Amino acid sequence: MPELPEVETVRRGLEPWLTGKRIRQVEIFHPRALREGSTIPFDSIIGARIERVDRRGKFLWFVLDRDIALVGHLGMSGQMLASPRKAQPEKHLRARIDFGDKKREFRFIDQRTFGWLSVESLVSNNYGLLPECCSHIAPDIFSEEFDEREVIAKVRGRKVEIKKALLNQEILSGIGNIYADEALWHAKIHPETPASKLSEIELKAIFKAVRRVMRSALKQGGTSFDDLYINVNGESGYFEVSLRAYGREDEPCRRCGTFIRRITFANRSSHFCPKCQRKKGVKARSRGKSRAKWGRKIPSKRGAVR
Ligand SMILES: [Zn+2]
Repeated sequence: MPELPEVETVRRGLEPWLTGKRIRQVEIFHPRALREGSTIPFDSIIGARIERVDRRGKFLWFVLDRDIALVGHLGMSGQMLASPRKAQPEKHLRARIDFGDKKREFRFIDQRTFGWLSVESLVSNNYGLLPECCSHIAPDIFSEEFDEREVIAKVRGRKVEIKKALLNQEILSGIGNIYADEALWHAKIHPETPASKLSEIELKAIFKAVRRVMRSALKQGGTSFDDLYINVNGESGYFEVSLRAYGREDEPCRRCGTFIRRITFANRSSHFCPKCQRKKGVKARSRGKSRAKWGRKIPSKRGAVR
């Protein structure tokens, strides 16, 4: 599922292409391509000029010369492409926008239909002017509005596990399963650690790891783990080769050699090193037991996952 680095990669691909262009024509090919509850007619953006492409967490939108915005969410498998106009329609093509470009057009492709587009009115809140559907979304870690002290206080005030707090888009946005697992591995924190039990120093270490992992992912064009995420030119990211925990079940930890474990938690998979990321307050297993359980050779399931 695309997270901040993937959505930002798409935004960076769209902005230079679309800024200054006018929307000539729009087409929707699937009812789920429009956000459920979206009320403003999709064709009300026809004639509008794109001023820039903005993002908050995993939401991105076209800022228009009108008091509405065109918002998009990639969901699980959404792709926003600058496709050659002559190219055959893709199997899962959900929407198309003509910007008057002679060579290329915007195509929204979504195999699993959890992604959407929506024309939204703008509302002002503490964070400025935002499209209505993402006005409840907190700033992300790279945003100027991100206040680390405030976010640390919010996280520590939650009676949930740290991984769940990191995934809560109303505390901080942009983090999903992949980068949560990666940041917790780098910070050596067990995903099920109660958020309230973490010290300020440990939370700072987690946020530092989130920044580091996401910056590095951005440089590599994001993570195309399930082969569905691609940038606007149809190219995959290649950060998956740098993953240390996510998707590495039964592969050795790059720090200590212990096999990475996968647990199901909050309806998602969590990957972690049972040795480097011990649960706070839980006594470590004896070396013998640990070896018996984790020291045996388990065939890699990576191929099956991918
Ligand atoms: Zn380890």
